[in-house]
Amino acid sequence: MRFSAARQIPPMLTEPNGGTPVKYNTYKNTQQKISKLGLGCMRLPRLSAEGEAIDWEQAQRVVDLAYESGINYFDTAFGYHDGESERFIGAALKKYPRESFNLASKMPIWKLRDGAKPEDIFAQQLEKCQVEYFDFYLMHAVGDNDEELIKSIDLPGFMRSLKAQGRAKRIGFSFHGSPALLRRMCENYDCWEFVQLQLNYYDWYDNTAKEEYDILCEFGIPCIVMEPVRGGSLHTLNSDAKALLDEYAPDKSAASFAIRFAAELPDVLTVLSGMSNLEQVKDNISTINGDIDLSAEEHELLKKVALEFRRNFTVPCTACKYCISECPNGVDIPAVFAAYNKYSMSRDLDDFTDAYAKIPSDSNASACIACGACQSVCPQSIEIPKKLKKALELL
Ligand code: SF4
Ligand code: SF4
Repeated sequence: MRFSAARQIPPMLTEPNGGTPVKYNTYKNTQQKISKLGLGCMRLPRLSAEGEAIDWEQAQRVVDLAYESGINYFDTAFGYHDGESERFIGAALKKYPRESFNLASKMPIWKLRDGAKPEDIFAQQLEKCQVEYFDFYLMHAVGDNDEELIKSIDLPGFMRSLKAQGRAKRIGFSFHGSPALLRRMCENYDCWEFVQLQLNYYDWYDNTAKEEYDILCEFGIPCIVMEPVRGGSLHTLNSDAKALLDEYAPDKSAASFAIRFAAELPDVLTVLSGMSNLEQVKDNISTINGDIDLSAEEHELLKKVALEFRRNFTVPCTACKYCISECPNGVDIPAVFAAYNKYSMSRDLDDFTDAYAKIPSDSNASACIACGACQSVCPQSIEIPKKLKKALELL
């Protein structure tokens, strides 16, 4: 059965859920209410800037504020925070009634390539999250290199079986491939109930996000948005792009425009934001609860901001860290790119050298032997060794 018509999600509802009212969408033609803002558990508060270890106390506050404000969608994955994210969010949500929140997690496809069994991984995930089912379950980061594997091990068949057993209520996948692959995934398999896309105004105007969103609309598959602020880069922006927004609305955060851009799309079920502190939760909730529709003038403005940003935006790294586990030399690739992007936005070489100096010498760009192992897993298709070399040249 294929979902019939696109744009079936009814207009949003506003309903209190314990704390500040939050806006909701309804899943297609059902009564299932999903908050328009979801908590991504990939960038939870950490004990230190260098490591991935979660600061459980702070992170619990983030989760509690989100929940009490009516957020009912929590998105984790096997690999987030070096595997700790699932354990944390399971424990953090334990005190709330199971039916009052939606928990999403993801099957790490790359582990299956190494011979791991999907059943074993899924069982571990349920155990780590202390639940008997996931409300939303995804194949994680489907890209062009995964198509053959997905078919050969019949991963969609496994996903269907989870649904039939009630261990995954809704099944889908997060996507980092080409629009052509997305179309084939929708045409070849009729089981997808949602797809998670990287969607933000930068990727809409300068990449393939619009094309991908349109494909989902065509197949009537609701879209869950990830990276609405592009790993935070649409919040920091560069000075020229930021000046455009500041001049227009000095009292609004740059992130709020990015969240509104994604949330106003009619077939978007929820916008996931990786909130790292209470201020970000409050800012995002106030954004989603306000008037999210952008005017024609604001759309034009964001198009200009995207262009301005692009002129300075050198490496489109979202700091997802998928590459790190592939690197035989442990190069901290996102840290090098973050330092490089600081420079490319400010044009102040000190910004680069200061940030670069904080990376241990055995994991900075000079440790790269250009083997290319990292490149195949990068969802942003960054030519990593080449860009690392460019960063080294700055020194
Ligand atoms: S190309 Fe460089 S950064 Fe990438 S995996 Fe190889 S050594 Fe690591
Ligand atoms: S280089 Fe690619 S894979 Fe690595 S952190 Fe950045 S976006 Fe993720």
